[in-house]
Amino acid sequence: MEVITSTKEIESINFDSPFAFIPTMGNLHKGHLSLVKYGKENYSEVITSIFINPLQFGKNEDFSSYPKTISQDIQLLENLGCNYLFIPEANFAENLDIIKPNFSDVLCGLSRPSHFHGVLTIIDKFLRVIKPDACLFGLKDYQQQLIIKDFVERKKIKTDIVSLPIVREKSGLAMSSRNNYLSDEDKKFCGKIYSCLKNLTPSLKITSLEVLKTEAKDFLQHAGFEIDYFEIVDANNLSPVTKKTDKVLIAVAVIYKKVRLIDNIVASL
Ligand code: AMP
Repeated sequence: MEVITSTKEIESINFDSPFAFIPTMGNLHKGHLSLVKYGKENYSEVITSIFINPLQFGKNEDFSSYPKTISQDIQLLENLGCNYLFIPEANFAENLDIIKPNFSDVLCGLSRPSHFHGVLTIIDKFLRVIKPDACLFGLKDYQQQLIIKDFVERKKIKTDIVSLPIVREKSGLAMSSRNNYLSDEDKKFCGKIYSCLKNLTPSLKITSLEVLKTEAKDFLQHAGFEIDYFEIVDANNLSPVTKKTDKVLIAVAVIYKKVRLIDNIVASL
């Protein structure tokens, strides 16, 4: 694997087509690695990036303490045969016009008001620099991939946005770099978040969504989670569910021992 730390250099490479790009913030786990594996199986070359994007962190968030495990990350990517690792310069996020996303005034966008502006602004830059045939994202960040898909469609950018399944711990907890802030026991306990989402789906067609939301929030609160949001929305546009909705997104963000955890499930109505 070639490690590239210069934007100019990565811009000058003629990658073998079709090639896939996977943006990450590093501290790689099996969730990230599932994207790399998919890339290797379906594209000629895979470029992964590691960049802790300052634009997507709020004032009181964990930008400076975000976990960094670069040599371990390089080894994991090497093992999977990733072709290039791009680690941009610190000024990669400087002097950019901030892009306003659609679908950002609900769910995570409500509690993290400038988060998706920061994500979209940096992804737009990556897409301009790397010009990948495909960009791979995890459905764990459902709102993020929806926002990027919408942007790429509106701007007619010639990159396929491919969204891939959530990889989970044994307990069901969605894998996340922030799980590193939790003990093994905590991670087991936090499996309750996914159980709660799963247990709710069979009732979607028979019980009012408001009742289901209240029950789920009560369950999580009694278990010891602080609820940021628990929502059931139209999976196509994150709007309230209507008679036309065929697919819902059940999305949750909770805080457990100061760690913010998100998860979701998509279900047919
Ligand atoms: P991050 O490093 O958190 O910015 O994540 C980089 C990419 O990995 C994003 O597309 C995430 O959605 C994806 N990702 C993170 N965790 C998981 C997971 N548990 N399963 C699948 N994809 C994931």
